[in-house]
Order: sequence, then C-alpha cells, then structure tokens
Amino acid sequence: MDDVREQKKCAHQSCTCMVSGERRYCSHECEDMADTDPTSVCTCNHTGCKST
Ligand SMILES: [Zn+2]
Ligand SMILES: [Zn+2]
Repeated sequence: MDDVREQKKCAHQSCTCMVSGERRYCSHECEDMADTDPTSVCTCNHTGCKST
C-alpha cells in the first residue's frame, strides 16, 4: 500500500492514455471531446497516445 497507484484508461474512447487517482480524463481536451463527441479522435497530444 506504499506506492500503489491506481491507473486506468482515460475515459475518452479514442484515448489510450492512462490516468491515475480520481481523474477520469488525461486532459481537458479529452474531457471536452468526450462530452461533445465521444468517438472523435483524441487530440490530447500526449506522447504515446494513439490518436490515429
Ligand atoms: Zn489521448
Ligand atoms: Zn485522454
């Protein structure tokens, strides 16, 4: 229980980023997009995010 971080995928469908803690989205971009168009391509610009 020392350094256990809960990690889960960003709540945006197309985003492959991981988020930790109480966050649901990796970025504001994802939060906005998930609200307007959940199936849109992710534009969070995070390294490693497969936004193709
Ligand atoms: Zn992303
Ligand atoms: Zn994201």
